[in-house]
Amino acid sequence: MEKKKNKKVFLKVVIIGDSGVGKTSLIHRYTSTRFLQDFKPTIGAEFSNKEVVINGQTVVAQIWDTAGQERYQSLGISFYRGADCCGIVFDRSEPGSFENLETWKNAFLKHGAPKEEGTFPFLVIGNKSDLDDGTLVKEREAQEWCSSNGNLEYIETSAKDNTSVEEAFTKLIEKGMERE
Ligand code: GDP
Ligand code: MG
Repeated sequence: MEKKKNKKVFLKVVIIGDSGVGKTSLIHRYTSTRFLQDFKPTIGAEFSNKEVVINGQTVVAQIWDTAGQERYQSLGISFYRGADCCGIVFDRSEPGSFENLETWKNAFLKHGAPKEEGTFPFLVIGNKSDLDDGTLVKEREAQEWCSSNGNLEYIETSAKDNTSVEEAFTKLIEKGMERE
């Protein structure tokens, strides 16, 4: 991304992860502060724009959501291509979605084909942290996975309680802006 003083910059933010982990809810929280109780997945990719000022720079973040197609693991190349940063979401109450982080990361690297494979700005997002019944994927376990899979950054969120949602997207956007 090219930085231009006093001009808006556009950033493509891609959010991936298993179906049901809360991607759409997180995006809606961030872009319109609404929590979706029963969101019906539709087919095709969608994106919403959010204009934010970060470190004095106006940024239009174009946030891409999978809109249900994650079931087929066959998102079009245009979904991934040109991304400036990527959030990989899992549901802390669904260990299977945590185990699929690697599949998602690899799918992004394969289809998005960023030029900096080893240092591309990913953020791993452990969502549904409000469901604390003692069986959630532990923070330490998630941190360990992130450390040993490219030293990725990790954050825990709840779209339901609106915990750390803004922090997660701000981090992602900052990472995308720092990208050379
Ligand atoms: P997506 O398939 O990844 O887009 O997931 P959705 O955003 O459609 O959410 C799937 C389900 O999980 C919905 O019923 C949401 O209301 C619920 N959900 C999403 N985020 C949270 C959260 O942080 N906590 C809880 N308890 N439920 C959530
Ligand atoms: Mg969705």
